[in-house]
Amino acid sequence: MTSTPEPLSRNTLLASFSSEALRSLAPSLELVRLERGETLHEMYGTVLHAHFPLDALISAFVDTTSGASAEVALIGGEGALGVMATLSGVRGNFRAVVDTGGTAYRVKLQPLRRALADDAQAHGTFMRYLTRRTVQIAVNAVCNAHHSVQQRFCRALLTRLDRCPAGGMLHLTQTLIAEVLGARRTGVTKIAGELRREGAIDYARGKLVVVNRELLQRYACTCGDQIAAQSALVATDV
Ligand SMILES: [Zn+2]
Repeated sequence: MTSTPEPLSRNTLLASFSSEALRSLAPSLELVRLERGETLHEMYGTVLHAHFPLDALISAFVDTTSGASAEVALIGGEGALGVMATLSGVRGNFRAVVDTGGTAYRVKLQPLRRALADDAQAHGTFMRYLTRRTVQIAVNAVCNAHHSVQQRFCRALLTRLDRCPAGGMLHLTQTLIAEVLGARRTGVTKIAGELRREGAIDYARGKLVVVNRELLQRYACTCGDQIAAQSALVATDV
C-alpha cells in the first residue's frame, strides 16, 4: 500500500457514490501501486478484490485452450476491474494484467456489494459501465476478425496515448504489443520497423515514443471512435 492519499474522484465509478455510501466504503478502500506486468487474476480465477484505477491501465485478456490470447478490453480511470465478479460471482471472466503501472484503489467484494446495495444511483452507474465494457468487447471482437494487424497496432497505441499522461512515451515492448493483438511477434516487429521508418514512432530508453500522431491515425482503424461514440450513447440512454 502506498502512503500518499489520492482523491477518490480520479476514478469515475468511485466518484459516482453518494457521500454517505463513500463514507461507509472508505475504511475498506486500500490505495495500492500496480506494477506493469503484474497479473491481478487469471482467467476463471478467484477475484478477491475490485480494483479502481486512478492512473494505471489494466488489460483484460481472453486465453484459448490452445494457449493463444488477445486483449479484449482496457480498463482505466473510467472503470474498474472486478465489477462483474462483484455483481454476479467471484470468478474472473478473463486474465487481468497491469498494462501501465500506476495507482488504484482496491476493495474486497463484500463491502463493495453492500455499498452498491445502499446506493441506487451508483448501482446504475456501475451497470451502465458494464454495458460500455460489453460494447468495447463486442467492437474489439469484430476488429480482431476484420482489421489488419497494422490497423490494430496503430489503434492500440492511440488508445494508450489518449490515456497516458507521459507525453507520448509508452511502456510497450513489441512482445507485449504482439500479446495484446494476438499476433505473431515477427509480424509486429515488421510493422514497428515500417512505422519507425515513416516517422510515426520511435524508441528511446526502452520506451515506445509516438512521434507523429496524425500518421498513426491515418493507419489505424476507426474502432476506437466507434467505441467512444457507442459509449457516449450508453451514458445518455437512461
Ligand atoms: Zn478495428
